[in-house]
Amino acid sequence: MYRPLTESAAMDYVRSAGLDIFRPDETLESEDLADGNVNLVYRVYSPSEPRQRSVIVKQALPYARVVGESFPMPLDRSRIEHRALEIQASYCPSLVPAVYRYDPDLSLVVMEDLHPRIIMRKGLMAQVRYPRFAADAAEFMANMLFHTSDLFLGSAEKKALVREFTNPGMCKVTEDLVFTHPFMEHPGNRWNPELDEEVRQLRADEQLQAEIAQLKTIFMTSAQALLHGDLHTGSIMVTPDDTKVIDPEFAFFGPMGFDVGALLGNLALSCASQEHHAVTAAARREYRAWITGTMREVWQLFEARFRSLFEASAPAQWPRGRFLDAYMRRLLQDAAGFGGTKMLRRILGLAHVVDLDAISDVHERAAAERIALAIGRTWILRRRDMQSIDDLIGIVEAAVVGPVAG
Ligand code: ADP
Ligand code: MG
Repeated sequence: MYRPLTESAAMDYVRSAGLDIFRPDETLESEDLADGNVNLVYRVYSPSEPRQRSVIVKQALPYARVVGESFPMPLDRSRIEHRALEIQASYCPSLVPAVYRYDPDLSLVVMEDLHPRIIMRKGLMAQVRYPRFAADAAEFMANMLFHTSDLFLGSAEKKALVREFTNPGMCKVTEDLVFTHPFMEHPGNRWNPELDEEVRQLRADEQLQAEIAQLKTIFMTSAQALLHGDLHTGSIMVTPDDTKVIDPEFAFFGPMGFDVGALLGNLALSCASQEHHAVTAAARREYRAWITGTMREVWQLFEARFRSLFEASAPAQWPRGRFLDAYMRRLLQDAAGFGGTKMLRRILGLAHVVDLDAISDVHERAAAERIALAIGRTWILRRRDMQSIDDLIGIVEAAVVGPVAG
């Protein structure tokens, strides 16, 4: 029977789960890690050798933890997360946490503790450079998106997976919180009061509204590949020499550009937030150059890897050459649209990002947020013009130097 576990119940659960990690009589300790919005997350470890032997227990609640019971969320997301982790592990085992136990009755997953890796967003706020990140992110996305698409799977096999990953409750959260509520008046929205005028203008911009509604229909109808579904820099844990992707509870079959755009858009949000976080002008310039260089590398390595997987293993029904060129271009354009939408919603909507929310001075925060709004809006409106990653990066660079006079 489902019941939410307290910290000590999680410890008892782990001790008696027969995991091969702890002895059944062992004294264990635990720590509440839930810094996310949604689930219970505990670390359970043996105190004799701190964190030498430890596991993470992640349990779904029937509602969103930070909001409360007024925001119901399906327990089934735990099944989705576990299955997605399994498929991810089959294509990129080094890039996801190992799963030790999935318990469908309790809607929980016991998994590898990724300590001492940290949430990437936090590292970016402190201008840490991650030289492995671009290659790892590219490898993860290319493998997952290619191998779960019709470019690789047989038609029936793909449709069986689509059925397995039908995730209506979590998709509805995205439909509402990413594509709808931020762009209308809604009680869940919150924004920096210094941006009242910008927010009013964005919500009155019919062209922008039409583009976002179109992106929403693509999100709702394009079962292109198995997405992570929430691939932002808070779902990535890093050290400078290794990368892990966590938290695929929003996984479903959707448009590839939604994952790619989430990542690029969150890197662009970090670029905007450096307005405050970087201490000197020189540090700001250099770190922004590292971020935009990383965005370029993520896309270029992703595209190269995706193309090589296609060349090596797409069935002959898919023509080589122009077909793939157009496919990749469309993917980049979708990424611009989805990435831009995700940037805007983090400033106008319910769920914000710590990169920006940690800026306590509202005036300074507004300056960073205006940069992010300009990037997001332009990515969306000009997405059909995007021919290369440099077109997206050019928009970031124009926004961080400020509006050009005239
Ligand atoms: P939610 O979906 O509720 O946001 P997450 O999966 O993002 O939950 O986890 C919340 C937090 O718990 C993460 O930000 C991270 O700090 C920590 N965490 C989650 N999984 C692990 C793990 N495997 N190893 C170490 N820390 C983890
Ligand atoms: Mg989550």
